[in-house]
Amino acid sequence: MSEHRRGWIINPCDLTEELIFRLQSAGINELGIHPGGGQRAAEKLSSCLDWLEEDETERLLELARERGLSLELCEHGASFLLPRSGFENHPERFRQDESGARTPFGNLCASNPEALEAVSDSAEKLYKRLRGQFDRVTLWPDDITKGGCRCGECAKLSVADQALKITNAIVRGFRRVDPNAKCGFLAYQDALETPKRVSPEQGVYLEYAPIRRNSLLPINDPANSGETKHLKELLEFFGVQYARVIEYWVDNSRFSNWTRPPKRLVFHGDVMRQDVKYYLSLGFEDLTSFACFLGPDYISLYGLPPYEEYGKAFAEAAACSLP
Ligand SMILES: [Zn+2]
Repeated sequence: MSEHRRGWIINPCDLTEELIFRLQSAGINELGIHPGGGQRAAEKLSSCLDWLEEDETERLLELARERGLSLELCEHGASFLLPRSGFENHPERFRQDESGARTPFGNLCASNPEALEAVSDSAEKLYKRLRGQFDRVTLWPDDITKGGCRCGECAKLSVADQALKITNAIVRGFRRVDPNAKCGFLAYQDALETPKRVSPEQGVYLEYAPIRRNSLLPINDPANSGETKHLKELLEFFGVQYARVIEYWVDNSRFSNWTRPPKRLVFHGDVMRQDVKYYLSLGFEDLTSFACFLGPDYISLYGLPPYEEYGKAFAEAAACSLP
């Protein structure tokens, strides 16, 4: 499994020198920075860009790289890429909601060419700024449910189709900077089904994030069939190459209902081992988990998070899955 990616995704405030050493000794080889989802994602991404310019952040990211961790930035980016301040002058670029009114709240009109072009332009600028610091940058539609546009053209498209149009616009911007750049399509919440009327452009790969899963039972348990219903079809549609799973095995922000102070994490190693075996059997080679709310505030309350157990779950499941 040495060529496989095994990740750990944190909020910026969770990054410390100790974390880097602990992840390295647990066999983790990718560190993700997730500024934070929810309705304030654009603001959080802006703050993260300031944080990335601090000397201490640069030092820690360099240390992480020296310690064998590849670095990624992942975030819900639609509201950042198409700033909401443009709503007054160009409401047609934004979403039409259930009532028929245009709204600046979440995502955009996926059928408006100017909106998509503005997203590509912003993605290009952002990628230029970030690619020196990160090995992977992936930006997703906004973190809202029922976030599709209901205008006449968009009504013909599912939320997943609309999400793919936004992802295509992002990757087009990235690839103006680097022709090999990639961006994940986030199969998640309302966009968990396979797009039907839109095709992925070059550089788009599948990122599967089953946030509504039952974390007490394995992902292939019937209790999780709602989250896995389209998984094999999604893999066929996007291809297994570069496909990755973004799990919630150690996502203490989810278990803490995204409110600090964090709760004590209960880590279900058996579930994770069974999940990893299942994902490997489907052909995924790139597996990670949100691991937010496990930083210094967590450690001062409860002690160390289960870095070693997490790394072991990957290693043991991979050993069982060898042909
Ligand atoms: Zn629309």
